Amino acid sequence: MAAQTIPAQPFQQQLLGWYAHNHRPMPWRDTQNPYSIWLAEIMLQQTTVAAVIPYYRRFLAAFPTVQTLAAAPIEQILHLWAGLGYYRRAHLLHKCAQTIAGKHHGHFPSTEAELLQLPGLGPYTAAVIAATAFNQPATVVDGNVERVITRLYTINAPLPKSKPLIRQKAALLSPLQPTTYNLQPRLYANAIMELGATICTPQNPKCLLCPVQQFCAAHAAGNPAAYPVKAAKKALPQRSATAYAITDSSGNLYLRQRPATGLLASLWELPHTGNWEAHQPPAIPLTQQTPAGEITHTFTHFKLTLNLIRATTPHTLPAANAFAPSNLPPLSTLMKKALTRAFTP
Ligand code: SF4
Repeated sequence: MAAQTIPAQPFQQQLLGWYAHNHRPMPWRDTQNPYSIWLAEIMLQQTTVAAVIPYYRRFLAAFPTVQTLAAAPIEQILHLWAGLGYYRRAHLLHKCAQTIAGKHHGHFPSTEAELLQLPGLGPYTAAVIAATAFNQPATVVDGNVERVITRLYTINAPLPKSKPLIRQKAALLSPLQPTTYNLQPRLYANAIMELGATICTPQNPKCLLCPVQQFCAAHAAGNPAAYPVKAAKKALPQRSATAYAITDSSGNLYLRQRPATGLLASLWELPHTGNWEAHQPPAIPLTQQTPAGEITHTFTHFKLTLNLIRATTPHTLPAANAFAPSNLPPLSTLMKKALTRAFTP
């Protein structure tokens, strides 16, 4: 367990002084609108800032308010979400928008405790919205903050076991009560995350440029890259399946929609067999079947190898499943990869 004490006020002042001149511009930092901040934070889970920015802008253009998002059909949301991955987030986004539009009359609650009750909001998202949209004192701990804190305090216990200790240390440094030097929780939350993202990076942290270097035990010990300590990861189970890219004589492609709940809910896919899930190929006569290579994809709980077969049918495809290549329904990243592979000679 880390024993050192860091004085909160000088730490905060150093950090905010640096942040004022060094942070990256991001569209969701220019606003205190909880809807925009919430949208960005849900998108940023598992996705990089650079990838999120165009999606964020497209969503705000299509759904400028939480009410418009709540009223939109899930198909439209999935269309705009396609490519961001982790599609459960899009379903929870919709559910959360409907809860705010209905139960909260279109207004986001402002406290961490109330925000935590909303669909899809965990401790980090609730804290970051409370701090950055409502300027509430809240301890914000994302992966960047975890790294900074484990280095500042040389926390040797491995993640995820060390999370409560990291949170406790992060809270000691966060502005949890009004201060005498005009410290805004909104700025502090952004500043400590930005430090982790740009200075205290996983590899080769830029300690010489770090505004809080004087407080850092890992820097003093000369081994920042040893933190955070992580528990060994278990190997993911492997699954394999065979997917069929079937076209008819008009050039239409056969796709089917996945169930409304579960993995890749409501998205469209090539029919497939095998142990991905117990699905059957469509009962359509196929005249030509050509192996078209394979792709691999990693889900959170398994790795998939998808073998691809390109096939044609002499029959007209059922209207509900026939799609012109120029007008495809919402597809997952996996299925986009599969289609590209299947039709690339
Ligand atoms: S001194 Fe180095 S290791 Fe310590 S917080 Fe700063 S960048 Fe991270």
